[in-house]
Amino acid sequence: NEDRVLSIYVIPYAGDRRLMQIKDVTQTDRLDRMRRDFVANVSHELRTPLTVLAGFLETLQEIEVDREEQARYLAMMSEQSLRMQSIVQDLLTLSSIESAPPPDNEPVDMVNMIDKLRRDAEALSAGRHTVVVETDGQGDLRGSEPELVSAFANLVSNAVRYTPPGGTIRISWRASSQGAEFAVQDTGIGIDPKHIPRLTERFYRVDRGRSRDAGGTGLGLAIVKHSLSRHQAQLDIKSTPGLGSRFAARFPASRVAGI
Ligand code: ADP
Repeated sequence: NEDRVLSIYVIPYAGDRRLMQIKDVTQTDRLDRMRRDFVANVSHELRTPLTVLAGFLETLQEIEVDREEQARYLAMMSEQSLRMQSIVQDLLTLSSIESAPPPDNEPVDMVNMIDKLRRDAEALSAGRHTVVVETDGQGDLRGSEPELVSAFANLVSNAVRYTPPGGTIRISWRASSQGAEFAVQDTGIGIDPKHIPRLTERFYRVDRGRSRDAGGTGLGLAIVKHSLSRHQAQLDIKSTPGLGSRFAARFPASRVAGI
């Protein structure tokens, strides 16, 4: 359904005859465009905190401010530099996943993994949410532990970050001989259905300000999608604005161990 991009060459050939070569370059053209958009997005994302940092530095150098004001400026500068660090860290994670060889097939202990994720959720929530784990403790996943951890931890941290205090974060794991599902459900702000197809694009956010205030980089779900697809898993997103969301990673039987 997409417009095709064609490259057409007309080459003189034997007297007044012409040879016409038509090449379908839709795919290369799309990749080029994605690469250009990506570089533009990264530059924009880094330029904003850098501009803020440079502005504060200049102010501090040029005018006398009292200690209280100085402390306020330094706190804001530190926030911006942490933001740049998170963006660069997420970019490095994405590129390391992209350039890594296919994930191995070693069993990853899911009891341990779920326990670690529960502790992560509790630490991030700092007592503001109820964290529930639902699992019968059966079955493990076959794959790369660091990649699976970064996918699952991103889903958990999103659930905490987009759920107002008092809400519930439910982490679940079910495995059978048919396949397995790891899911994170929250009672948070939810997502309008029209945004769902684009959520895993790099730097796509429903609400830029809210994501930034929640410490987001806009790269989390891109990392999730990438590391899941390397494990032949699908990401299923269900959400109701104002009620909450459920992000489920579904793995095929070939990725399940110990059942
Ligand atoms: P971010 O760093 O902005 O959280 P992500 O790639 O992790 O980036 O997510 C993309 C966007 O999807 C977020 O900016 C947010 O708008 C939305 N989102 C992700 N997870 C949730 C959730 N659990 N509840 C509500 N919105 C979410």
